[in-house]
Amino acid sequence: MKPFHEREKRALLRSVADGVENPVCPRCGGRCSVIRTRTRADVSYVRDRVVIRCSGCMRTLALEAG
Ligand SMILES: [Zn+2]
Repeated sequence: MKPFHEREKRALLRSVADGVENPVCPRCGGRCSVIRTRTRADVSYVRDRVVIRCSGCMRTLALEAG
């Protein structure tokens, strides 16, 4: 399975930045889930992350939120 192209990542990130909770997958047209991981106070090296996972093709895109 090929990962998202850069332009597909940008489209997804733009949707998330706009506050879309279930952005449309640019690859398969399925709905994506946006999972936000909070920084844990007891594990200082864990940073806020956002993971976008498509329910259709199961591709994921992870990025640092902070
Ligand atoms: Zn997809």
